[in-house]
Amino acid sequence: MALVVQKYGGSSVSDAHSIKRVAKRIAEARRAGNDVVVVVSAMGDTTDELLDLAAQITPLPPQRELDILLTAGERISMSLLAMAINNLGVKAKSFTGQQAGLITDAVHGRARIVDVVPSRIRETISKGQVAIVAGFQGVTTDTNDVTTLGRGGSDTTAVALAAGLQADVCEIYTDVDGVFTADPRIVPNARKIERVTYEEMLELAASGAKVLALRSVEYARRYGVPVHVRSSFSGATGTLVVGTYGDRIDPNAPSGEEEQMEAPIISGVAHDRSEAKITVVGVPDVPGMAARIFEVVAGAGANIDMIVQNVSAAATGLTDISFTLPQGDSPATMAALTAVQGEIGFASLQFDDQIGKLSLVGAGMKSHPGVSARLFGALRDAGINIEMISTSEIRISVVTRADSLDDAVRAVHTAFDLDSAEGEAVVYAGTGR
Ligand code: ADP
Ligand code: ASP
Ligand code: MG
Repeated sequence: MALVVQKYGGSSVSDAHSIKRVAKRIAEARRAGNDVVVVVSAMGDTTDELLDLAAQITPLPPQRELDILLTAGERISMSLLAMAINNLGVKAKSFTGQQAGLITDAVHGRARIVDVVPSRIRETISKGQVAIVAGFQGVTTDTNDVTTLGRGGSDTTAVALAAGLQADVCEIYTDVDGVFTADPRIVPNARKIERVTYEEMLELAASGAKVLALRSVEYARRYGVPVHVRSSFSGATGTLVVGTYGDRIDPNAPSGEEEQMEAPIISGVAHDRSEAKITVVGVPDVPGMAARIFEVVAGAGANIDMIVQNVSAAATGLTDISFTLPQGDSPATMAALTAVQGEIGFASLQFDDQIGKLSLVGAGMKSHPGVSARLFGALRDAGINIEMISTSEIRISVVTRADSLDDAVRAVHTAFDLDSAEGEAVVYAGTGR
Protein backbone atom coordinates (compact mmCIF):
# COMPACT_ATOMS: atom_id res chain seq x y z
CA MET A 1 0.00 0.00 0.00
CA ALA A 2 1.38 3.38 -1.01
CA LEU A 3 0.86 6.90 0.27
CA VAL A 4 0.08 9.07 -2.72
CA VAL A 5 -0.29 12.85 -2.87
CA GLN A 6 -2.28 13.94 -5.93
CA LYS A 7 -2.62 17.57 -7.03
CA TYR A 8 -5.29 18.71 -9.47
CA GLY A 9 -4.82 22.07 -11.23
CA GLY A 10 -7.57 24.57 -12.01
CA SER A 11 -8.33 23.34 -15.53
CA SER A 12 -8.86 19.79 -14.16
CA VAL A 13 -11.66 21.04 -11.85
CA SER A 14 -13.12 23.87 -13.93
CA ASP A 15 -16.81 22.89 -13.53
CA ALA A 16 -19.11 20.44 -11.69
CA HIS A 17 -18.68 17.81 -14.40
CA SER A 18 -14.86 17.95 -14.13
CA ILE A 19 -15.00 17.79 -10.35
CA LYS A 20 -17.06 14.58 -10.58
CA ARG A 21 -14.62 13.15 -13.13
CA VAL A 22 -11.62 13.86 -10.89
CA ALA A 23 -13.50 12.47 -7.87
CA LYS A 24 -13.81 9.12 -9.70
CA ARG A 25 -10.09 8.99 -10.28
CA ILE A 26 -9.41 9.72 -6.59
CA ALA A 27 -11.94 7.12 -5.42
CA GLU A 28 -10.27 4.53 -7.68
CA ALA A 29 -6.85 5.28 -6.19
CA ARG A 30 -8.31 4.85 -2.69
CA ARG A 31 -10.18 1.65 -3.60
CA ALA A 32 -6.93 0.24 -5.02
CA GLY A 33 -5.67 0.33 -1.42
CA ASN A 34 -3.61 3.53 -1.38
CA ASP A 35 -3.63 6.22 1.27
CA VAL A 36 -4.65 9.30 -0.71
CA VAL A 37 -4.06 12.99 0.05
CA VAL A 38 -5.36 15.41 -2.57
CA VAL A 39 -4.35 19.05 -3.12
CA VAL A 40 -6.71 21.06 -5.26
CA SER A 41 -6.48 24.43 -7.05
CA ALA A 42 -9.25 26.96 -7.56
CA MET A 43 -11.75 26.12 -10.33
CA GLY A 44 -10.66 27.20 -13.85
CA ASP A 45 -9.51 30.84 -13.95
CA THR A 46 -11.07 31.73 -10.57
CA THR A 47 -7.85 33.21 -9.16
CA ASP A 48 -7.48 35.57 -12.16
CA GLU A 49 -11.15 36.52 -11.90
CA LEU A 50 -10.78 37.34 -8.19
CA LEU A 51 -7.71 39.46 -8.99
CA ASP A 52 -9.67 41.30 -11.71
CA LEU A 53 -12.45 41.92 -9.24
CA ALA A 54 -10.08 43.36 -6.64
CA ALA A 55 -8.54 45.61 -9.32
CA GLN A 56 -12.01 47.03 -10.02
CA ILE A 57 -12.20 48.04 -6.34
CA THR A 58 -8.72 49.53 -5.97
CA PRO A 59 -5.47 49.54 -7.98
CA LEU A 60 -3.33 48.58 -4.96
CA PRO A 61 -5.34 46.29 -2.65
CA PRO A 62 -3.85 45.63 0.82
CA GLN A 63 -1.89 42.35 0.53
CA ARG A 64 -3.52 40.83 3.60
CA GLU A 65 -7.02 41.31 2.18
CA LEU A 66 -5.95 40.08 -1.25
CA ASP A 67 -4.67 36.85 0.32
CA ILE A 68 -7.96 36.26 2.15
CA LEU A 69 -9.83 36.86 -1.09
CA LEU A 70 -7.66 34.49 -3.17
CA THR A 71 -7.73 31.61 -0.67
CA ALA A 72 -11.52 31.55 -1.11
CA GLY A 73 -11.03 30.06 -4.61
CA GLU A 74 -9.35 26.89 -3.30
CA ARG A 75 -11.89 26.59 -0.46
CA ILE A 76 -14.70 26.35 -2.98
CA SER A 77 -13.07 23.57 -4.99
CA MET A 78 -11.90 21.57 -1.94
CA SER A 79 -15.37 21.33 -0.43
CA LEU A 80 -17.07 20.50 -3.75
CA LEU A 81 -14.47 17.81 -4.43
CA ALA A 82 -14.98 16.29 -0.97
CA MET A 83 -18.75 16.20 -1.62
CA ALA A 84 -18.23 14.49 -4.97
CA ILE A 85 -15.96 11.81 -3.45
CA ASN A 86 -18.36 11.15 -0.56
CA ASN A 87 -21.08 10.74 -3.17
CA LEU A 88 -19.12 7.82 -4.65
CA GLY A 89 -19.15 6.02 -1.31
CA VAL A 90 -15.57 6.90 -0.33
CA LYS A 91 -15.16 9.03 2.81
CA ALA A 92 -13.39 12.34 2.21
CA LYS A 93 -12.80 15.46 4.30
CA SER A 94 -11.53 18.86 3.16
CA PHE A 95 -9.06 21.10 4.99
CA THR A 96 -7.83 24.66 4.51
CA GLY A 97 -4.07 25.23 4.39
CA GLN A 98 -4.21 26.32 8.01
CA GLN A 99 -6.08 23.17 9.10
CA ALA A 100 -3.63 21.03 7.13
CA GLY A 101 -0.71 22.54 9.09
CA LEU A 102 0.98 24.58 6.36
CA ILE A 103 2.91 27.20 8.32
CA THR A 104 4.44 30.07 6.35
CA ASP A 105 6.36 33.29 6.88
CA ALA A 106 4.39 36.54 6.87
CA VAL A 107 5.16 37.73 3.31
CA HIS A 108 1.66 38.03 1.87
CA GLY A 109 1.31 37.11 -1.80
CA ARG A 110 4.51 35.06 -1.93
CA ALA A 111 4.82 33.42 1.48
CA ARG A 112 7.38 30.67 2.01
CA ILE A 113 6.54 27.45 3.82
CA VAL A 114 8.53 27.29 7.07
CA ASP A 115 6.95 24.18 8.59
CA VAL A 116 4.46 21.43 7.76
CA VAL A 117 2.52 19.93 10.68
CA PRO A 118 0.00 17.64 8.99
CA SER A 119 -1.44 15.95 12.11
CA ARG A 120 -5.06 16.26 10.96
CA ILE A 121 -4.14 14.85 7.56
CA ARG A 122 -2.39 11.88 9.17
CA GLU A 123 -5.38 11.30 11.41
CA THR A 124 -7.74 11.38 8.40
CA ILE A 125 -5.81 8.91 6.27
CA SER A 126 -5.25 6.60 9.24
CA LYS A 127 -9.03 6.21 9.33
CA GLY A 128 -9.01 5.19 5.67
CA GLN A 129 -10.47 8.52 4.53
CA VAL A 130 -9.26 10.76 1.71
CA ALA A 131 -7.87 14.13 2.85
CA ILE A 132 -8.48 17.05 0.48
CA VAL A 133 -6.30 20.13 1.05
CA ALA A 134 -6.81 23.62 -0.36
CA GLY A 135 -3.72 24.46 -2.41
CA PHE A 136 -1.60 27.62 -2.44
CA GLN A 137 -2.34 28.77 1.12
CA GLY A 138 -1.03 28.63 4.65
CA VAL A 139 -1.06 30.52 7.90
CA THR A 140 1.59 32.65 9.54
CA THR A 141 2.12 32.02 13.23
CA ASP A 142 3.24 35.67 13.72
CA THR A 143 -0.29 37.02 13.29
CA ASN A 144 -2.44 33.96 12.58
CA ASP A 145 -3.35 35.52 9.21
CA VAL A 146 -3.84 33.44 6.07
CA THR A 147 -1.16 33.75 3.40
CA THR A 148 -0.77 32.63 -0.21
CA LEU A 149 2.34 31.04 -1.74
CA GLY A 150 2.39 32.93 -5.06
CA ARG A 151 0.89 32.00 -8.44
CA GLY A 152 0.95 28.30 -9.20
CA GLY A 153 1.53 27.64 -5.49
CA SER A 154 -0.72 24.56 -5.24
CA ASP A 155 2.17 22.59 -6.75
CA THR A 156 4.26 23.69 -3.77
CA THR A 157 1.54 22.71 -1.28
CA ALA A 158 1.45 19.24 -2.84
CA VAL A 159 5.21 18.70 -2.77
CA ALA A 160 5.50 20.09 0.78
CA LEU A 161 2.79 17.71 2.01
CA ALA A 162 4.39 14.81 0.15
CA ALA A 163 7.69 15.61 1.90
CA GLY A 164 6.02 16.10 5.31
CA LEU A 165 4.07 12.84 5.02
CA GLN A 166 6.97 10.97 3.37
CA ALA A 167 4.68 10.01 0.51
CA ASP A 168 5.83 7.53 -2.09
CA VAL A 169 5.06 9.89 -4.95
CA CYS A 170 3.62 13.32 -5.64
CA GLU A 171 1.41 13.25 -8.75
CA ILE A 172 0.74 16.60 -10.40
CA TYR A 173 -2.36 16.28 -12.59
CA THR A 174 -2.75 18.95 -15.26
CA ASP A 175 -4.14 19.59 -18.75
CA VAL A 176 -1.22 18.22 -20.81
CA ASP A 177 0.43 14.76 -20.74
CA GLY A 178 3.59 15.84 -18.90
CA VAL A 179 6.58 18.12 -19.29
CA PHE A 180 7.34 18.74 -22.97
CA THR A 181 10.38 20.14 -24.80
CA ALA A 182 8.33 23.38 -25.17
CA ASP A 183 4.85 24.58 -24.26
CA PRO A 184 2.54 22.40 -26.44
CA ARG A 185 0.17 25.36 -26.79
CA ILE A 186 2.89 27.10 -28.83
CA VAL A 187 4.78 24.15 -30.32
CA PRO A 188 2.20 21.48 -31.21
CA ASN A 189 4.90 18.96 -32.13
CA ALA A 190 6.81 19.37 -28.86
CA ARG A 191 8.08 16.09 -27.46
CA LYS A 192 7.06 14.64 -24.10
CA ILE A 193 10.05 14.16 -21.80
CA GLU A 194 9.95 10.77 -20.02
CA ARG A 195 12.35 11.74 -17.24
CA VAL A 196 13.83 15.05 -16.26
CA THR A 197 16.28 15.85 -13.44
CA TYR A 198 15.45 18.30 -10.66
CA GLU A 199 18.12 20.69 -12.00
CA GLU A 200 16.75 20.76 -15.52
CA MET A 201 13.20 21.18 -14.26
CA LEU A 202 14.33 23.99 -11.95
CA GLU A 203 15.84 25.83 -14.89
CA LEU A 204 12.80 25.22 -17.13
CA ALA A 205 10.45 26.43 -14.37
CA ALA A 206 12.63 29.45 -13.59
CA SER A 207 12.56 30.31 -17.31
CA GLY A 208 8.76 30.34 -17.48
CA ALA A 209 7.59 26.74 -18.08
CA LYS A 210 4.66 27.07 -15.71
CA VAL A 211 3.71 23.38 -15.82
CA LEU A 212 5.44 23.18 -12.40
CA ALA A 213 5.85 26.13 -10.06
CA LEU A 214 9.53 26.92 -9.43
CA ARG A 215 9.30 26.64 -5.66
CA SER A 216 7.70 23.22 -5.86
CA VAL A 217 10.72 21.98 -7.79
CA GLU A 218 13.12 23.55 -5.29
CA TYR A 219 11.22 21.82 -2.50
CA ALA A 220 11.12 18.47 -4.31
CA ARG A 221 14.86 18.57 -4.90
CA ARG A 222 15.67 19.50 -1.31
CA TYR A 223 13.59 16.66 0.14
CA GLY A 224 14.05 14.17 -2.71
CA VAL A 225 10.31 13.93 -3.48
CA PRO A 226 9.68 12.01 -6.73
CA VAL A 227 7.24 14.07 -8.82
CA HIS A 228 5.10 12.62 -11.62
CA VAL A 229 3.55 15.26 -13.92
CA ARG A 230 0.65 13.81 -15.89
CA SER A 231 -2.77 14.54 -17.35
CA SER A 232 -6.00 14.19 -15.39
CA PHE A 233 -7.75 13.68 -18.74
CA SER A 234 -5.90 10.53 -19.85
CA GLY A 235 -4.36 7.41 -18.35
CA ALA A 236 -1.01 8.04 -20.03
CA THR A 237 2.21 7.94 -18.02
CA GLY A 238 3.61 11.45 -17.75
CA THR A 239 7.03 12.86 -16.87
CA LEU A 240 9.07 11.78 -13.85
CA VAL A 241 11.06 14.51 -12.15
CA VAL A 242 13.83 12.73 -10.24
CA GLY A 243 17.61 12.51 -9.90
CA THR A 244 20.50 14.73 -10.92
CA TYR A 245 22.53 15.49 -14.02
CA GLY A 246 25.08 12.83 -13.05
CA ASP A 247 22.35 10.22 -13.46
CA ARG A 248 22.09 11.10 -17.13
CA ILE A 249 25.68 10.09 -17.82
CA ASP A 250 25.93 6.33 -18.10
CA PRO A 251 28.97 5.23 -16.04
CA ASN A 252 29.10 1.94 -17.96
CA ALA A 253 29.28 3.57 -21.37
CA PRO A 254 32.02 1.87 -23.46
CA SER A 255 35.17 3.94 -23.94
CA GLY A 256 35.20 6.09 -27.04
CA GLU A 257 31.81 7.49 -26.14
CA GLU A 258 33.26 10.13 -23.81
CA GLU A 259 32.95 12.78 -26.45
CA GLN A 260 29.32 11.96 -26.95
CA MET A 261 28.80 11.97 -23.18
CA GLU A 262 30.11 15.52 -23.03
CA ALA A 263 27.89 16.76 -25.83
CA PRO A 264 25.40 19.37 -24.65
CA ILE A 265 22.10 17.77 -23.61
CA ILE A 266 19.21 20.05 -24.54
CA SER A 267 16.21 19.75 -22.21
CA GLY A 268 13.88 22.17 -23.90
CA VAL A 269 12.85 25.70 -24.85
CA ALA A 270 10.98 27.78 -22.29
CA HIS A 271 9.32 31.15 -22.77
CA ASP A 272 8.17 33.92 -20.49
CA ARG A 273 5.85 36.79 -21.30
CA SER A 274 5.51 38.06 -17.75
CA GLU A 275 8.52 40.37 -17.61
CA ALA A 276 9.10 44.03 -18.47
CA LYS A 277 12.21 46.04 -19.28
CA ILE A 278 13.27 49.29 -17.66
CA THR A 279 16.08 51.39 -19.17
CA VAL A 280 17.81 54.06 -17.14
CA VAL A 281 19.03 56.49 -19.82
CA GLY A 282 22.06 58.74 -19.49
CA VAL A 283 23.63 57.46 -16.28
CA PRO A 284 26.94 59.18 -15.33
CA ASP A 285 29.59 56.47 -15.97
CA VAL A 286 31.44 56.71 -12.63
CA PRO A 287 31.96 54.06 -9.90
CA GLY A 288 29.01 53.43 -7.63
CA MET A 289 26.16 54.28 -10.02
CA ALA A 290 25.04 50.69 -10.69
CA ALA A 291 25.24 49.98 -6.96
CA ARG A 292 23.03 52.98 -6.17
CA ILE A 293 20.46 52.19 -8.90
CA PHE A 294 20.10 48.57 -7.83
CA GLU A 295 19.91 49.53 -4.14
CA VAL A 296 16.87 51.59 -5.05
CA VAL A 297 15.44 48.77 -7.21
CA ALA A 298 15.96 46.23 -4.40
CA GLY A 299 14.35 48.64 -1.95
CA ALA A 300 11.25 48.60 -4.16
CA GLY A 301 11.10 44.81 -3.69
CA ALA A 302 11.78 43.97 -7.35
CA ASN A 303 13.21 40.64 -8.47
CA ILE A 304 15.77 41.47 -11.18
CA ASP A 305 16.45 39.02 -13.98
CA MET A 306 18.77 40.25 -16.78
CA ILE A 307 20.96 43.38 -16.65
CA VAL A 308 22.76 45.06 -19.54
CA GLN A 309 25.00 48.12 -19.33
CA ASN A 310 26.13 49.73 -22.56
CA VAL A 311 29.64 51.09 -23.16
CA SER A 312 29.51 54.80 -22.38
CA ALA A 313 29.86 57.29 -25.18
CA ALA A 314 33.32 58.87 -24.87
CA ALA A 315 31.98 62.32 -25.71
CA THR A 316 29.37 62.40 -22.96
CA GLY A 317 30.64 59.95 -20.30
CA LEU A 318 27.05 58.72 -20.03
CA THR A 319 25.77 55.17 -20.28
CA ASP A 320 22.40 53.36 -20.39
CA ILE A 321 21.50 50.52 -18.03
CA SER A 322 18.63 48.15 -18.92
CA PHE A 323 17.18 45.41 -16.76
CA THR A 324 14.22 43.05 -16.82
CA LEU A 325 11.87 42.34 -13.91
CA PRO A 326 8.38 40.86 -13.34
CA GLN A 327 5.69 43.16 -14.74
CA GLY A 328 4.01 43.17 -11.34
CA ASP A 329 7.12 44.69 -9.71
CA SER A 330 7.35 47.48 -12.32
CA PRO A 331 5.05 50.24 -10.95
CA ALA A 332 6.81 50.34 -7.56
CA THR A 333 10.25 50.20 -9.23
CA MET A 334 9.50 53.02 -11.70
CA ALA A 335 8.20 55.15 -8.83
CA ALA A 336 11.28 54.47 -6.68
CA LEU A 337 13.69 55.31 -9.53
CA THR A 338 11.80 58.47 -10.48
CA ALA A 339 12.14 59.63 -6.88
CA VAL A 340 15.98 59.48 -7.05
CA GLN A 341 16.42 60.91 -10.58
CA GLY A 342 17.83 64.20 -9.21
CA GLU A 343 20.19 62.48 -6.78
CA ILE A 344 21.63 59.99 -9.35
CA GLY A 345 21.48 62.45 -12.21
CA PHE A 346 20.26 60.17 -15.02
CA ALA A 347 18.44 61.70 -17.99
CA SER A 348 15.23 59.64 -18.19
CA LEU A 349 13.51 56.28 -17.70
CA GLN A 350 12.03 54.05 -20.41
CA PHE A 351 9.47 51.36 -19.66
CA ASP A 352 8.67 48.49 -22.03
CA ASP A 353 6.23 45.68 -21.21
CA GLN A 354 6.07 44.33 -24.76
CA ILE A 355 9.03 41.98 -24.36
CA GLY A 356 9.27 38.20 -24.39
CA LYS A 357 12.05 35.96 -23.14
CA LEU A 358 13.11 32.70 -24.75
CA SER A 359 15.43 30.31 -22.88
CA LEU A 360 17.20 27.25 -24.20
CA VAL A 361 17.85 24.93 -21.25
CA GLY A 362 20.28 22.04 -21.09
CA ALA A 363 23.55 20.76 -19.66
CA GLY A 364 26.94 21.87 -20.97
CA MET A 365 25.89 25.07 -22.78
CA LYS A 366 28.74 27.33 -21.81
CA SER A 367 31.46 24.98 -22.98
CA HIS A 368 29.81 24.64 -26.39
CA PRO A 369 29.90 27.97 -28.24
CA GLY A 370 28.23 26.19 -31.17
CA VAL A 371 25.00 26.12 -29.19
CA SER A 372 24.65 29.91 -29.05
CA ALA A 373 25.66 30.24 -32.70
CA ARG A 374 22.93 27.79 -33.68
CA LEU A 375 20.34 29.57 -31.53
CA PHE A 376 21.17 33.02 -32.93
CA GLY A 377 21.21 31.57 -36.45
CA ALA A 378 17.72 30.13 -36.00
CA LEU A 379 16.42 33.53 -34.88
CA ARG A 380 18.16 35.29 -37.78
CA ASP A 381 16.60 32.87 -40.29
CA ALA A 382 13.19 33.57 -38.74
CA GLY A 383 13.81 37.33 -39.03
CA ILE A 384 13.66 37.88 -35.27
CA ASN A 385 15.70 40.61 -33.60
CA ILE A 386 17.52 39.88 -30.31
CA GLU A 387 17.37 42.70 -27.75
CA MET A 388 19.24 41.20 -24.77
CA ILE A 389 21.25 38.02 -24.15
CA SER A 390 22.33 36.21 -21.00
CA THR A 391 24.05 32.86 -20.58
CA SER A 392 24.78 30.42 -17.77
CA GLU A 393 26.18 26.91 -17.57
CA ILE A 394 22.79 25.41 -18.34
CA ARG A 395 20.80 28.18 -20.04
CA ILE A 396 20.92 30.75 -22.83
CA SER A 397 18.20 33.40 -22.70
CA VAL A 398 17.31 36.09 -25.22
CA VAL A 399 14.81 38.92 -25.07
CA THR A 400 12.69 39.58 -28.18
CA ARG A 401 9.54 41.59 -28.98
CA ALA A 402 6.56 39.92 -27.28
CA ASP A 403 4.73 39.43 -30.57
CA SER A 404 7.60 37.48 -32.16
CA LEU A 405 8.14 35.21 -29.15
CA ASP A 406 5.96 32.31 -30.39
CA ASP A 407 7.76 32.26 -33.76
CA ALA A 408 11.09 32.41 -31.95
CA VAL A 409 10.21 29.41 -29.76
CA ARG A 410 9.14 27.35 -32.77
CA ALA A 411 12.25 28.27 -34.77
CA VAL A 412 14.64 27.35 -31.95
CA HIS A 413 12.74 24.14 -31.17
CA THR A 414 13.14 23.02 -34.78
CA ALA A 415 16.78 24.16 -35.02
CA PHE A 416 17.75 21.92 -32.09
CA ASP A 417 15.95 18.89 -33.59
CA LEU A 418 13.44 18.76 -30.75
CA ASP A 419 10.35 18.38 -32.97
CA SER A 420 8.54 15.10 -32.39
CA ALA A 421 7.90 12.75 -35.27
CA GLU A 422 4.97 11.23 -33.40
CA GLY A 423 2.32 13.81 -34.16
CA GLU A 424 0.86 16.61 -32.13
CA ALA A 425 0.79 16.91 -28.34
CA VAL A 426 -2.70 17.02 -26.84
CA VAL A 427 -3.83 20.07 -24.88
CA TYR A 428 -6.90 18.73 -23.07
CA ALA A 429 -8.30 21.86 -21.45
CA GLY A 430 -7.46 25.23 -19.96
CA THR A 431 -7.39 28.69 -21.43
CA GLY A 432 -3.63 29.14 -21.17
CA ARG A 433 -4.26 32.21 -19.02
P1 ADP B 1 -2.63 23.72 -13.77
O1 ADP B 1 -3.89 24.54 -13.82
O2 ADP B 1 -2.91 22.25 -13.91
O3 ADP B 1 -1.74 24.05 -12.60
P2 ADP B 1 -0.88 25.29 -15.48
O4 ADP B 1 -1.62 26.13 -16.45
O5 ADP B 1 -0.31 25.94 -14.28
O6 ADP B 1 -1.84 24.07 -15.09
O7 ADP B 1 0.30 24.49 -16.20
C1 ADP B 1 0.03 23.67 -17.33
C2 ADP B 1 0.35 24.44 -18.60
O8 ADP B 1 1.75 24.72 -18.63
C3 ADP B 1 0.10 23.70 -19.87
O9 ADP B 1 -1.25 23.78 -20.28
C4 ADP B 1 1.06 24.38 -20.85
O10 ADP B 1 0.40 25.34 -21.66
C5 ADP B 1 2.06 25.10 -19.96
N1 ADP B 1 3.45 24.77 -20.24
C6 ADP B 1 4.45 25.67 -20.41
N2 ADP B 1 5.60 25.08 -20.68
C7 ADP B 1 5.37 23.75 -20.68
C8 ADP B 1 6.18 22.58 -20.92
N3 ADP B 1 7.48 22.69 -21.18
N4 ADP B 1 5.59 21.36 -20.85
C9 ADP B 1 4.27 21.25 -20.58
N5 ADP B 1 3.45 22.30 -20.37
C10 ADP B 1 3.99 23.54 -20.42
N1 ASP C 1 -5.07 29.11 -7.87
C1 ASP C 1 -3.71 29.56 -7.75
C2 ASP C 1 -3.25 30.19 -9.05
O1 ASP C 1 -4.02 30.24 -10.00
C3 ASP C 1 -2.77 28.50 -7.30
C4 ASP C 1 -2.61 27.34 -8.26
O2 ASP C 1 -3.48 27.11 -9.11
O3 ASP C 1 -1.60 26.65 -8.16
O4 ASP C 1 -2.14 30.65 -9.14
MG1 MG D 1 -0.14 25.40 -12.25
